[in-house]
This record gives sequence, structure tokens and C-alpha cells, in this order.
Amino acid sequence: MEKVDLIVNADYLITMEGDLEVIENGAVAVRGSDIVDAGAADDISSRFTAEKIIDGKDKVVFPGLINTHTHAPMVYFRGLADDLPLMEWLEKHIWPAESKWLTEEFVDDAVELACLEMLKSGVTTYADQYFYQGIAGTKVEKIGMRGVLGAGVIDFPSKYAQDADGYFSNAERVVEKFKHSELITPCISPHAIYTCGPDNYKRAGEFAEKHDIPFHTHLAETQFEVAECQKRFGKTPVEYFEDIGLLSERLFLAHCVWLTDNEIELLAKRKVGVAHCIESNLKLACGFAPVDKMLKAGVKVAFGTDGAASNNDLSILGEMSTAAKVHKAVSMDPTVLDSKTVMQMATKNGADIIGLGNITGSIKPGKKADLVIANLKAPHLLPMYDVYSHITYSMRPSDIQSVIINGKVIVENGTLTTMNENDILDKAMMWQDRIKE
Ligand SMILES: [Zn+2]
Repeated sequence: MEKVDLIVNADYLITMEGDLEVIENGAVAVRGSDIVDAGAADDISSRFTAEKIIDGKDKVVFPGLINTHTHAPMVYFRGLADDLPLMEWLEKHIWPAESKWLTEEFVDDAVELACLEMLKSGVTTYADQYFYQGIAGTKVEKIGMRGVLGAGVIDFPSKYAQDADGYFSNAERVVEKFKHSELITPCISPHAIYTCGPDNYKRAGEFAEKHDIPFHTHLAETQFEVAECQKRFGKTPVEYFEDIGLLSERLFLAHCVWLTDNEIELLAKRKVGVAHCIESNLKLACGFAPVDKMLKAGVKVAFGTDGAASNNDLSILGEMSTAAKVHKAVSMDPTVLDSKTVMQMATKNGADIIGLGNITGSIKPGKKADLVIANLKAPHLLPMYDVYSHITYSMRPSDIQSVIINGKVIVENGTLTTMNENDILDKAMMWQDRIKE
């Protein structure tokens, strides 16, 4: 018998490998941070022993969900301003709130709440774009979550940096701090083409190449942005990026709501990933991203929640259900975004577009053990004929029982193991009182 550290059993095991078949009575063997094997429980228990064995009765185990676009510390602005168009929401509410409140202390505290919310809804990895990522990353490591943390760049001065050199030297420090981290991947993240000109974009592209890191930005979110881009550069946003040499596999783009067929082809050809943020797009009335078209053209599309101020939660389960339904209605075709495709977007595609495809996104020997254990015995989940359908259309964050990241049990029976949940909630209430004044 081979000794491992942990065996996770499951009535239903979804690996997202091979032909996406569900393994009934499955198990995963974990040693240290790694998956050693996954398959039939009988086979695993005949070959491996472990001190910790997690029972799988009435449970489904699947790969950790990936949130490929958010601004985690913005959880403290949840519900601060709703029901407004993007530019008015940004200019009159979000940017003033950020310029008043954004500090290292704010980020350090807010990221705890964001991680707690994501972990308890089955998200094991998130890709972020914000400021003070050095502070955020230290906290995310302490909590035990995986993060691709994009150091923010904008053309104008803020509390965080005075000019381009300031933003890039901050980004340099984020790279230095986390380049050997097991959980944190540094990333460069200019905000958007309406806040960053070509100089900062080109510089970010060179920075990503030099450090061999992912590149994360917003693109083609609104019709207004596309019209401005055409006015300024005589091109649509993706064509503009092609022109300045930014389209590559290391780039992933949040939104991509307004694309021409030529732009979709370009994204596929250059292997650029797309973070689809349907609930944010719906709430800010940006439009409907051509997700089915992108998938059919071979573009890797994954899910992002965007910041909690435009969603207003950080649940990928919510994005999955919303996207699966909205795209059917938009295309007048109920066969698009079927539940297996949606699950693929939430796991494997997510890991691939943020550059972690060899590490996470599926349950496979050699990958890191990032697993979600969800309860299936609940009124809204019975009876159960198709577990993919249930995860996409019926499961709620409250069904997530345990979460394992890098081989460690981070959420156990609904409770965070690495920090005190009540302290996190109390801190959020303290900030609420401050911000409300
Ligand atoms: Zn965003």
C-alpha cells in the first residue's frame, strides 16, 4: 500500500479530463500539494492509505472554479452605487470612493472578505486587477487561495503611484515578491484603453514578456469604448491591440462584449483568452458578449465576476447559471452553452487563459490538488439525473461543503480553516460604518 496524505471520496467525481465522463463512486489521492491519482474509489482504496480520508456520501467532487476577472478589494463597495451606466458609475461613484478610501489597510482587509466569499462558493483561483497587490498577495497566501494578481496601471496619478514609472516600479516589486510563490502568480494589468494610452500598453506588453507573466486588461466592454477607439486610432479595440503587438497567449481580456467577426478570428488566431463577465455586463447594460460565436471560432472563454460593485457578488456558480440561460435566449437557441461547456469554461478554460493550465483546472495526476466538495442532498438538488446540469443550473454557494487548495483543506464543512471568519465579517462591518459616513 502506498501512503498519501489525503483521500477524497465522492459519490460523483468530475475530473474535466478525457471525455468528461462522471465517475460514480470515485476518489482522489493527494500527497503534499499534488494529485497522485484519481479514479474509481475501489481502485484508489486498494492501492493507497491516508491518515485523512474525506467521506463522499451524497457528495460531488469537481475541480476548483476559476474566477478569471475581478477586483477583489472592491467588495467593500458592494451596493454602494447601483443602477447606473458604466461611465457615470465609474466617474461619479467608484473612482471618488477609491480616491477617498483606497489604502494598503483597505486592500489588506477587503481582500479577506473577497477570498472568504469566493472560497465558500467553490472558487479556488482568482485573477485580479487592482492596486497594492503586494499587500493583497501576502494576505491571499495566508488564507491559502491561488491568485493571479495583476498590478494596476493607469495614465493618471493616484495615491498608489504618481506616473507611469511609479506604476511600473510597483509592478516590478509585485513580481519580485511573488515570482517564487506557490500560490501567487504576478501579472501586469493596465486598466482599459480609455484610461491607458498606447505607451503604457506597449510598456505593459514588454513588461509581461520580460518577466514571462500573464497580461490582464479590460477590452471592448461598451459601444462607447469601441466608438472612442475608432475615433482615436481608426481601428476597433482588438485590431488596435493587434496593431501595437499585444495579442498573444499571455493576454486575457475581460468583457469583449462588442467584437466584429474579424476580431473574433484574430483572438482565436493569436490564442487570446476572454474573461466573460455576464452579470456585470447585464447590470451595467453593456450588452451581450458573442460567447457562442467565440467558442465556435476556437476562442477560449472563461468566467469572471468583475468587482462586487458591479455584480454584486463573487460567485462563479451564479455566472455559470446566468450565462447558460442568457446566451440561449440571446441566440434563440436552447442548445448553446450546454452544462458541460459551461463547466469547462468555469474550470479548464479558466486555468488555461490565466496561464495556469498545467497547475489547476482539472483533476489529473501531477496537477495541484484544487478540489471542491459539494453536498447534493438538498431540496433544490433532488432528484439528480445529471450532475453537470445540477452544478450549472441548481447549485448554490451554500452547497459547497469543503474546498481544498494546493492539497490543503481551506474550507472544511463550510468553515474557513485558515482565518477566523467572524473577524473578517466584523472588519467588513467596521469599514461599512466608516464608508457610510
Ligand atoms: Zn473589471
